[in-house]
Amino acid sequence: MDQRTRNLIKAFISAYGDRPTLGVRAPGRVNLIGEHTDYNDGFCLPMAIERDVRIVARPRKDATIRVLSLEQGGGLVEFDTGLNIPKASIAELRWADYVKGCVQVLCEEGIRVRGADLAITGDVPLGSGLSSSAALEVATIHAVLSASRKALPAERIATLAQRAENRYVGNNCGILDQLSSACATKGKAMLMDCRTLKLLPASLPKGVSVVIADTGKRRGLVDSEYNQRRQQCEAGAKALGVSHLRDVTLHGLWHASVKARIDQQTRRRCEHVVAENGRTQAAFACLQAGDAPSFGQLMDQSHADLRDKFEVTCRELDDLVAISRSLPGCLGSRMTGAGFGGCTVSLVQDHCLPTFVPAVTAGYRSLHDLPVAVYVTRAAPGAGRLVLR
Ligand code: ADP
Ligand code: MG
Repeated sequence: MDQRTRNLIKAFISAYGDRPTLGVRAPGRVNLIGEHTDYNDGFCLPMAIERDVRIVARPRKDATIRVLSLEQGGGLVEFDTGLNIPKASIAELRWADYVKGCVQVLCEEGIRVRGADLAITGDVPLGSGLSSSAALEVATIHAVLSASRKALPAERIATLAQRAENRYVGNNCGILDQLSSACATKGKAMLMDCRTLKLLPASLPKGVSVVIADTGKRRGLVDSEYNQRRQQCEAGAKALGVSHLRDVTLHGLWHASVKARIDQQTRRRCEHVVAENGRTQAAFACLQAGDAPSFGQLMDQSHADLRDKFEVTCRELDDLVAISRSLPGCLGSRMTGAGFGGCTVSLVQDHCLPTFVPAVTAGYRSLHDLPVAVYVTRAAPGAGRLVLR
């Protein structure tokens, strides 16, 4: 048991006066390639990261849930498992909406959950695009199920977690984050087919590391811009006579008659999604072949399209990618997550890490007065039990 778990247990005991009887963890994730493709029924290539949300809990005899978060203030939040919370947020404390939403979707599925006392801690940075929210949801569902002596398949937990965020937080996210957190495999990235929810794991090439760098810029515009991009993708698919952009080829998109039917901007959005689906499948083939340089090139192309065609980057992200890319040993770099701030992900040769990490930090600091953070991470396992002894 490490210090974080010890602190969590200590906080649990001081809040509830007794020891927790169970523990769960769910990781954040980084998407290596395949951005803004999940809600187009397309492909992503994420892996879980070595940062997670942990929950310790103790079942109660009644139907009450009590919960506290070490990171978020507000003390204990208490509610009834039979609650009927209105859609899209009620709480004065937004973080508690995630927890309540998860309990609510379990109830809606007819799963009888017992009351429990919960304590939460997380070291996934909040709002950086590394999916602390999905880690929180997936961990919550695991904890509540476990306290009720119930279990569900990981894929089902992911879809319930996504529904909780869609309905009760009002964030219209795709399945990428929750499926990554719930179903990841240690040491592997996974090609995710967001239509079938099928996952194909593949190891990262030898001799390279995944480096995440946080711009320190929080994603201000993201909700409205994200929803607008989604609408544009839906409009594009409709004009092309398909349900989702997954079913479109670049050839189909460029066809003259098609050009006539959709406006320039929508077409550029669609071009990114269609090309990104191809790049993501190609990147998976690179992993299977152990070809890190080609994988890196696809990451570069992905960033360029996200910047020029999908227009979801910002100066900070573009600068951080350019700095990373200029350094020795960097094979590819791109923004990751929804965009407008948050993190970049780079593929860096192991022997260059000792110079890469300080150089990225210094280079970015010379341009922006923001708290940059760099995380080198291996691929972590998906959600599961947390050992309490
Ligand atoms: P991201 O998923 O990219 O980190 P989101 O805005 O989707 O960003 O989710 C962040 C929110 O998730 C936080 O504002 C908070 O409400 C909730 N959250 C994440 N981790 C924790 C935690 N350890 N304790 C309480 N709430 C958390
Ligand atoms: Mg999130």
